[in-house]
Amino acid sequence: MAIATEQAALDLIREKVEAGERLGFDDGLTLMESDDVLQIGELADTARRLRGGTDDVYFVQNLYLNQTNVCRVKCKFCAFARTQKQEGAYTFTAEELVEDALRQRELTGFTEIHMVGGESPHVAFAYYVEIVRQLKEAMPDVHLKLFTASEIHHMTRLSGLSHEEVLRELRDAGLGSLPGGGAEIFAGRVRRLIAPGKEHPDFWFHTHRAAHGLGIPTHCTMLYGHVETYEERVDHLLRLRELQDETGGFLAFIPLAFHPENTVFERRGWTQSAGTDDLKVIAVSRLLLDNIPHVKAYWIMMGMPLAAVALHFGANDVQGTVVREAIFHAAGARTETEQKIEELVRYVRGAGRTPVQRDTLYNEVRRWS
Ligand code: SF4
Repeated sequence: MAIATEQAALDLIREKVEAGERLGFDDGLTLMESDDVLQIGELADTARRLRGGTDDVYFVQNLYLNQTNVCRVKCKFCAFARTQKQEGAYTFTAEELVEDALRQRELTGFTEIHMVGGESPHVAFAYYVEIVRQLKEAMPDVHLKLFTASEIHHMTRLSGLSHEEVLRELRDAGLGSLPGGGAEIFAGRVRRLIAPGKEHPDFWFHTHRAAHGLGIPTHCTMLYGHVETYEERVDHLLRLRELQDETGGFLAFIPLAFHPENTVFERRGWTQSAGTDDLKVIAVSRLLLDNIPHVKAYWIMMGMPLAAVALHFGANDVQGTVVREAIFHAAGARTETEQKIEELVRYVRGAGRTPVQRDTLYNEVRRWS
């Protein structure tokens, strides 16, 4: 787009933002196509403030667990999954997970367990229910944010139950919320290329809609920086906005940058997304998702220095202390797995914002004023 034309389009978007008007598909595309990242970031921060955002920046103290890395799906972007017979394959029992979590809890007072894993055909639905039940029993005050929509769908196939029935059983055992994984990019063209074995995106929406209906809040994501077009990114974001209009059940949106290391894409010479693209995605997400309260700068993927910059591009959450992380490190993420609270506080303060430790549901735990 010629510079004068692009500026005119950005000016129109600014007028809409300042008037509190909702942005549409074409606005989203204009923003994605623009290279004026600083202007878009400032616009996103303006939108965030006009919608009631403050200087508060949230993080949670959480433990990452993976119950199994055995997976039947074989997404091409995944460096985590193994077949049952492959070296390094594991499936932990509920007892092992509880033991591990309790050991970690002696070291850090986490308030949340975030656990996702592969879609193993070698376990039964009862395995998942037992994990939730035992974790809840051992740590009743810890919020359990477990299983992607893809895993919930997998459980329907293991059990013959509906999505609602699976979610109800898990909720009754102690499940508190769902993470947002499995969304990837909703466009069929992209899914056929990067995750041909994954279920249709309608199931992702059906699962999240069902969870919201049962009073289970959820998160939503977008995996970007691979084969998707700007149109497909905008389409993805608007589909999330539509469901949020309907249910209001999303707590936060987390853009996830694709890491090609140890995947087939690395052999094709792909490299990690540029920091400017990460910042643009955060900003455009904040601008388009006017009904989702929080946008996370996921430091485990982008690194804490860039996550701190993203706080000026519309993000208001840096995720958590992340006691353990396996999936993205298998794909080459180089940040440390445990980030001390003091370090998060230092970065957030350095960005001129107020660090607030939260629980999963965004209740304040501690504030550094
Ligand atoms: S991304 Fe998830 S579903 Fe896809 S192969 Fe990896 S573990 Fe399996």
